[in-house]
Amino acid sequence: MQKKNSSGNVSGKGYYIALVLCAVAIGLAGFLYYRNAGVKDVILQNPTQSVVGTQPNSDVQAVATQPNEQAQPTTLPQKPSKVQAPVEGKTVAEYSMDALSYNQTTRDWRVHDGVDIAAEAGTSVSAAADGEVYTVYEDEAMGMTVVIRHDEGYTTKYACLSQEVAVKAGDAVTAGQKIGTVGDTALLESQLGAHVHFSVSCNGTVLDPADFLS
Ligand SMILES: [Zn+2]
Repeated sequence: MQKKNSSGNVSGKGYYIALVLCAVAIGLAGFLYYRNAGVKDVILQNPTQSVVGTQPNSDVQAVATQPNEQAQPTTLPQKPSKVQAPVEGKTVAEYSMDALSYNQTTRDWRVHDGVDIAAEAGTSVSAAADGEVYTVYEDEAMGMTVVIRHDEGYTTKYACLSQEVAVKAGDAVTAGQKIGTVGDTALLESQLGAHVHFSVSCNGTVLDPADFLS
């Protein structure tokens, strides 16, 4: 009787241990399932990954064609009648929006929305055409900057000027009028030394300054 009882107790304990182990196993399986499901949710919620996974070709083509269409509009409004280069000097970095060009300062390849004209610090910089000064500000990357608005939606921008700017927002300027002097204030292009970063746009579309000045 004693043996029977004791063996009965042992098998009873074993039964409960097995039950507990089963419960633990079910709980663990459930935890792993929900954890994996959570990871899947994160992947699906991430727009970049789901877009790449579902429509790779159409998206890539859209990105590849848009910049070119914007950079080369088919028709442009009439340019200002009188245009001239903002400073006499050597072109040290060309305009390059369709292809990446090497930046000596940042040591990487990037687009360049203007032309860099090197000249001695202090050389006069003049308005490229008649217009009105829209804004004068110190840009974190491009230094002292003057923006002039012209007729027909054209805008010219002169960056990397010295601190001594000769105009203020609202001033009317004529082609060739001094607006400031050459400086070396553009941190993003500091390796080029003293120069002017000159860029042109028309109604928000960036243009090649050479086309504007020709
Ligand atoms: Zn530049």
